[in-house]
Amino acid sequence: MAIPKPPDYVLAVKGQSSAQSPDTPKVILPDDEAYETARLSWNLAADQRPAAICLPTSADEVAGAIRYAGERGLRIAPQTTGHMAMALEPLDRALLLKPEFDGPRVEVDRAALSARIRGGATWGDVVGAVSEAGLTVMHGSSPSVSPFGYVLGGGLSFYGRAHGFAANRVSSFEIVTADGEIRRADSEQDSDLFWALRGAGGSFGVITGIEIGLLPLDEVFAGIGFWPMAEAPELLEIWSGWAKSAPDSVTSTFRLLRPPPLEDVPEPIRGVPVAAIDAVALDDDAGAGLVALFDDCSEPLMGGWGRQPSSAVSRLHGDPEDPLPGIGDAILLNELDADARARYISAAGAESDSSLVAAELRQLGGALGRPAENGGVLSHVDAGFMLFGIGVAFDPDSSAKTEADLDRLLAALEPFRAPRRLYGFAERDCSLEDCFGPESATRLEQIRDKYDPGHVFIAPHQAAAG
Ligand SMILES: Cc1cc2nc3c(=O)[nH]c(=O)nc-3n(C[C@H](O)[C@H](O)[C@H](O)COP(=O)(O)OP(=O)(O)OC[C@H]3O[C@@H](n4cnc5c(N)ncnc54)[C@H](O)[C@@H]3O)c2cc1C
Repeated sequence: MAIPKPPDYVLAVKGQSSAQSPDTPKVILPDDEAYETARLSWNLAADQRPAAICLPTSADEVAGAIRYAGERGLRIAPQTTGHMAMALEPLDRALLLKPEFDGPRVEVDRAALSARIRGGATWGDVVGAVSEAGLTVMHGSSPSVSPFGYVLGGGLSFYGRAHGFAANRVSSFEIVTADGEIRRADSEQDSDLFWALRGAGGSFGVITGIEIGLLPLDEVFAGIGFWPMAEAPELLEIWSGWAKSAPDSVTSTFRLLRPPPLEDVPEPIRGVPVAAIDAVALDDDAGAGLVALFDDCSEPLMGGWGRQPSSAVSRLHGDPEDPLPGIGDAILLNELDADARARYISAAGAESDSSLVAAELRQLGGALGRPAENGGVLSHVDAGFMLFGIGVAFDPDSSAKTEADLDRLLAALEPFRAPRRLYGFAERDCSLEDCFGPESATRLEQIRDKYDPGHVFIAPHQAAAG
């Protein structure tokens, strides 16, 4: 696609007045007062400076924004919260398009166990709405992540080992494609697009709504325990041994955490390096069985387990909700034998001098490892664990240290690496082929050529040529 050189088109955009045709939403330009706030992503380390920004409030306005960009030779970066903004190429030749729809953004159909989610909703909004109906949804660990980017990247949930990837719970997408058409992609209409959207991201258009299946769970067995980080080797040996034959009803994580010394961190772990284990069990006995394995370990510094409202699961992991500057990345691991465990502890544990705020192992397997019936491109993964590291990027020094510590962690576990990566967690040096293999990557490119022949949309993990 021919993209005008930056100076030409930046001038062209700057020359526009704010007045637009009725179905074109308001566009925010770099000289506008609102620009500095509107350009921010959740991940503040992504210093995105788009040529223009648009916050459409309806699917018609999204179509208007696509037209606006087309008329000015701009590419388009659809985004909701910006949790994954670090994985995007620079936006200086792009319209940043963030749907912020009017009216209720979540509608729950209790009888059909389904919710319709509209542009701008976060998982916090969705969990709040579905819990009022005594239901839950396959959300992730952070209430401030949006369901759109999450399902477009697969969606790894605390309900994953029982029910698979959240993307395969989506029954339809409403999407505005590059030609400005508002489409419904489901198992019957535009089924190729439906397949691609379930795991392979925002390269195909702007999502304005999804319909997703819900889970009839108003309570679950769940909990978390925090121990001094020095205890990590023993805890990890017990946890990884249990994981080898764990029931599918339990999904858990193991983390090495360095909580900051801030007031909103609970006192027992404020500024204290810890090892943490959390889990959700859809079977109380299975959950209690996991907890009992740690009876002979030292008392946790903090934590608790038991039945609780399923709505509480969205904050179980304690992810930061407010915007932060961070650098993270993830790979998948086949196994966690003694050598792998020693490498993990050595790279991120108590003696490591690592600055990573979290070095996280998420348990895979169960339904996450079995082909989903009529699933999307991310049907399942063949791996035992996901390793995800993240640290702060407040300034050049902390960014460099985080990058180095992240590289060290991922390199240490390289011999145990599974062939694929998870689209929604990989943030650096990742291609479609890395996530889905050569055959699916080729099919995804063909589907992109069909729905976005000009390669207008900017999304993570696109081929270098865009
Ligand atoms: C603290 C934290 C916790 C996380 N926890 C989990 C977890 O538990 N499970 C999990 O699976 N993932 C998790 N993730 C990863 C997260 O799912 C991805 O970063 C996801 O892409 C975020 O989606 P978003 O829409 O909020 O972010 P964005 O950065 O806004 O979106 C990411 C990408 O999705 C696409 N996209 C977003 N909105 C639209 C749209 N309207 N139309 C078209 N494309 C769009 C775009 O390609 C965009 O670049 C976590 C990430 C963080 C930072």
